[in-house]
Amino acid sequence: MNYYSDHFSKLIGELSKLPGIGAKTAARLAFHILEMPLEQAEELAGSILEAKKNIKYCRTCFTITDEEECPICRSPLRDHSTIMVVETTRDLAAYEKTGRYEGVYHVLQGAISPMQGIGPSDIRLKELVERLRGDVKEVIIATNSSLEGETTAMYISKLVKPAGIKVSRIASGVPVGGDLECIDEVTLLRALEGRTEI
Ligand code: ZN
Repeated sequence: MNYYSDHFSKLIGELSKLPGIGAKTAARLAFHILEMPLEQAEELAGSILEAKKNIKYCRTCFTITDEEECPICRSPLRDHSTIMVVETTRDLAAYEKTGRYEGVYHVLQGAISPMQGIGPSDIRLKELVERLRGDVKEVIIATNSSLEGETTAMYISKLVKPAGIKVSRIASGVPVGGDLECIDEVTLLRALEGRTEI
């Protein structure tokens, strides 16, 4: 049943495809957008397109960046021999917020999930292996403690160990299934400092 105009229903439909946005929230947002001045709506629509068209992935660590290589990978102040493997750029941001990690990252852009048909070749594992040819002393696995995160961690440890590189896993204390970005900085730091070699 279409209570609204077709244009308005389409907007609600598109908004409700976003994660965590149900039909009610989508309608609320759509009404809000409708009430915006046209310029503000143009800013919003424009910024979505700009982001989609211009954001790149760092050629080294695969985080989201505006340039070929991200500022972390380019920084001479970072320890390039320590690589922390995370699932997403959001996880990287969570560790960066602590301001205490001095190494670099590798963003997998996902985790292995046989249930969802995501295999090792669907995430940036091949690229991680290539990085190990350089001067790498430690790989810290900071994937989520979900089933997918643990499966990925196991897989990575099997990939990295034969190269004779130290592999560690962040300590538990990060809630099971918890998104790293939702965890406070103190907990993250404890998890990092309490990491164990696997
Ligand atoms: Zn990078």
